[in-house]
Amino acid sequence: MSSKPIAKHNLQAKQLEKYFSISRGMGKTPLLVKAVDGVSLQLSQGETLGLVGESGCGKTTVSRMLLALEKPSGGQVLYNDKDLYSLPKTDLRTFHKTVQPVFQNPFSSLNPRMRVKQIVGEPLRALTNMQLSERNARVIHALETVGLDGKDAQKFPHEFSGGQRQRIAIARALASKPAIIILDEAVSSQDISIQAQILNLLKDLQDSADLGYLFVSHDLATVRYMCHKIAVMYLGRVVEWAESDMFYQNPLHPYSQALLSACLTLDPRQEKQRMILKGDVASPLNPPSGCRFHTRCPNAKPECKAVDPIPVEVEPGHWVACILYQ
Ligand code: SF4
Repeated sequence: MSSKPIAKHNLQAKQLEKYFSISRGMGKTPLLVKAVDGVSLQLSQGETLGLVGESGCGKTTVSRMLLALEKPSGGQVLYNDKDLYSLPKTDLRTFHKTVQPVFQNPFSSLNPRMRVKQIVGEPLRALTNMQLSERNARVIHALETVGLDGKDAQKFPHEFSGGQRQRIAIARALASKPAIIILDEAVSSQDISIQAQILNLLKDLQDSADLGYLFVSHDLATVRYMCHKIAVMYLGRVVEWAESDMFYQNPLHPYSQALLSACLTLDPRQEKQRMILKGDVASPLNPPSGCRFHTRCPNAKPECKAVDPIPVEVEPGHWVACILYQ
C-alpha cells in the first residue's frame, strides 16, 4: 500500500501591491508611494528563492507582506493555497510557527534585556502551549543545532560576537520547527568569513529539515551560492525570474546584466566588461513612464518611455519584462 505523500508548505505572492500614502498637508491630495507594484512569486519547502535588487526596490516590503507583517494594498499572499490575510486566528498561529523570519541586523533584532533562552523561546511562548521545561529543552536543541552551546541560553546578547548573534537569530527562527524561513539580508552585516559559515549552516539545515528559504539580498554572488531560483526586482516590480543556472548563464534583462557585470569573478584572468548604470534608482513616488528602467537602461529605445513591458517566457521557466524580447 503506498503511503500518502507529505504535502510541502508553500507561499505565493499574486500581483502583490503595497502603496503608502504621504500627507502633503491640509486640503492637498496625499502622494502615493508605490513601494511594491504587482509582484508575483512562488516558494516551496526545500527550495531557495533569491529576491535580488538595489536598496529601496521593495524587496523588504515584499518579505514583510509574506510574513503577515504588512497588509498588502492589492493582490494576494497565499499560504498553502489559502489567502494569508483571511486566515482565522488559529491558522494564523500555525502560519507563524511554520514561516519564520531572520532579519538583517542581529544587534537590533535581539532584545538586549532578554537572556538568550527567552529570546529563542519567545516564538514557542507566543505560538504554542508548551510547558516551560519543554520550551527550554527545545531552546537548547535549537542553540546546539546552530553550533552554540546549551549553556549560552543563560547569557545576554551583548556577550556574543556578531556572527554568534546571527546564529541566535537563526536558532530563534528554528525553535518552532518552521518549514519556510524568510532571510532578509541575513548575512549582509557580517564579515566574509562569518557569512560563509552562516551560509553553510543554512544549507545544512535546509538539507536536514527540508526548509524553504526566501533569500533577500543585493549580493548576486551570495545568491548564486544559495539559491535554486532567482527573481530580480527593480522599483517595485520583478523584471526577470528564472532557475538559478539559467539566470547566471544567460541573464536577459539589461538591469540583471548590469548587476551581474558588477560581480567579482573567482578567476582574475577572466575579462569582464562592466556595465555602469547612470544615475540612481528613480523614486517610487513618481516612477518613470513606460519601462521603469528606461532612465538608466543602456539599451533603451524611444518606445521604452511609453511601453510598460509585460513579462514573457523567453525559454521554459525564464521570464523577462523588456521590449527587447517581445
Ligand atoms: Fe531597457 Fe527598454 Fe528593456 Fe526597459 S524595455 S529594460 S528600457 S530595453
